[in-house]
Amino acid sequence: MDKNLNVQHLANVKEEGLRYITLPAFSEFPEIVAGFTTRFGGVSTGEFATLNLSFTRSDDKSNVFENYRLLSEDLGVPLNNMVLSYQTHSKNVMTVSKEHSGMGLVTDRTYTDTDGLITDETSLMLVTHYADCVPLYFYDPFKKVAGLTHSGWKGTLQDIAGETIKKMRDVYGCNPENIRAAFGPHIRNCCFEVDVDVAGEFAKIDYAKGHIFSRNDGKWMIDLENIIIESLKRQGLREDNIFRCNICTKCHKEIFFSHRGSRGKSGTAAAFIMIKE
Ligand SMILES: [Zn+2]
Repeated sequence: MDKNLNVQHLANVKEEGLRYITLPAFSEFPEIVAGFTTRFGGVSTGEFATLNLSFTRSDDKSNVFENYRLLSEDLGVPLNNMVLSYQTHSKNVMTVSKEHSGMGLVTDRTYTDTDGLITDETSLMLVTHYADCVPLYFYDPFKKVAGLTHSGWKGTLQDIAGETIKKMRDVYGCNPENIRAAFGPHIRNCCFEVDVDVAGEFAKIDYAKGHIFSRNDGKWMIDLENIIIESLKRQGLREDNIFRCNICTKCHKEIFFSHRGSRGKSGTAAAFIMIKE
């Protein structure tokens, strides 16, 4: 069975009720709850319609909170069990424990500049945010450690994926050979074009070189997924433990929030992962 996330997995996404896609990569681990939200099922309007999950845009905060309440109700996970990142395109990965319960949602965060979250606690749902950037989900079924990392192009340049694996190894003793990694929906190589300055930054990374393509109009295309996979393999992940996502958020901007697809006027989706008790 194909455990990559494919367009066929969008078949169940309808324009009524709260809808998120689940990750086939973790389907054999009943203790894992993991998914990625769509635009559907929330109360926000306009460019944020409807399930905007970001408090940092100009959306009405009470609508965003109601969207989280709906997600909480649907997943059966109390808001106080969620822990939100503080994303600044950093390469920082934080170890999450019970003291962080509800932070970013029901209490203030005690941290800043945190784009990756890892935990070995059960019943704590890690939550990160996206509108085209790359969601990375991690799980070590032996050590029972989960991770969730936001890797946009800036995070990919800084190798936050590699940082996440190093931290899972150093803090929790995870063997990279046992870690399963899965990509969520993001802007793929069909749509992710950059100018020469950004392409030049990627060209400095030796393992990225085969995944940058020049076009004849002076723009460049970057394949973030393959660059991240190269990094994960260098950290010791087995290729058969890495699951791709063939769904592009810009190509499916009617289903997912897409910064590029909506020329910057976009709400924000959430990725989530939790180890059940
Ligand atoms: Zn695309």
